[in-house]
Amino acid sequence: MLEDLLGRSFPYLRLSVTEACNFRCSYCLPDGYKKTGVSDFLSADEIIRLVSGFADLGVRKVRLTGGEPTLRRDIPTIASAISALGRIETLAMTTNGYNLKTQAGIFADSGINALNVSIDSLQADKFHRITGHDKLKDILEGIDLARKAGIKPIKINCVLIKGVNDDEWPDFVALARREDISIRFIELMQTGDNGDYFRKHHLSGEVLQAYLTAEGFAPLPRSATGGPALEYGHPDHGGRIGIIAPYSKDFCTTCNRLRVTARGDLRLCLFGEFGYGLRPYLQSADQRNELTQRITDLLSYKTRSHNLGQGVTGLTPHLASIGG
Ligand code: SAM
Ligand code: SF4
Repeated sequence: MLEDLLGRSFPYLRLSVTEACNFRCSYCLPDGYKKTGVSDFLSADEIIRLVSGFADLGVRKVRLTGGEPTLRRDIPTIASAISALGRIETLAMTTNGYNLKTQAGIFADSGINALNVSIDSLQADKFHRITGHDKLKDILEGIDLARKAGIKPIKINCVLIKGVNDDEWPDFVALARREDISIRFIELMQTGDNGDYFRKHHLSGEVLQAYLTAEGFAPLPRSATGGPALEYGHPDHGGRIGIIAPYSKDFCTTCNRLRVTARGDLRLCLFGEFGYGLRPYLQSADQRNELTQRITDLLSYKTRSHNLGQGVTGLTPHLASIGG
């Protein structure tokens, strides 16, 4: 198992498969995706070699993300090939849900067995304003189809946006209770491009924690391959609420994930200052040992913590560029 100098191990890889996105989320790509340079994102073959190498190093959970991963037509091919390796227990995808209604069954058949769908408002007009798309109803129907196709768990990602969706916490909690679905609230993070938006709309996860406690939720234990969320459960129903609070003290001590960008750069931290190119090691299957050695060596550069609290956003102009 991969370990860094601080003894943290890394069973979880977050892999961006594209920088492109069709949405214009106000905190991420408010002016839409603008292509920069050549879009030479990792090919399906390069991705499989990469995941095989990480599997050799003990990775058992892979999340496909982006940009919007479902914009890649070969995503079912990629997912099927990763499943066929037989070594990845959880093959997850984070999506804006745009293509779920038409493709939920295809995603399930290709081996995706965990899904996070981003929904920042349960009000159709507000959802439209935040994302630029009047698609809330279709996305909720897509979630239902994904569930019927057998994908479990399905979680909803909701970014905490002060003055925009903090009036909707009771509605999200009611949804969790009614549908037995988990909601992940994500603290808004500052990135290179969204400083003004961040200063206006950032809300600490602690405020939500206090609300959940008052509603009878209690913290649950964390699993080894689990994500960064602090999870809360309720004695009366199965729906869980998670809070991802990167600004909280000690957030980085439980870091168990590495990221690779759509262009094949290893990022040791979401807000790190460096990307380390792995692409040269993905050109043929017989480079596998070189690849795993390179990843192992690079891990010694992983730092104790990000410096987001000091406004250091590293290389990340927006999360679409690295895979949130
Ligand atoms: N396009 C897909 C989606 O939206 O689900 C996957 C990529 S997106 C970058 C992954 C997650 O990051 C989404 O849940 C999104 O809401 C979240 N995100 C994007 N920018 C963020 C920011 N500045 N702060 C917190 N979360 C952010
Ligand atoms: Fe696209 Fe996801 Fe960013 Fe929204 S959060 S603009 S859906 S990449």
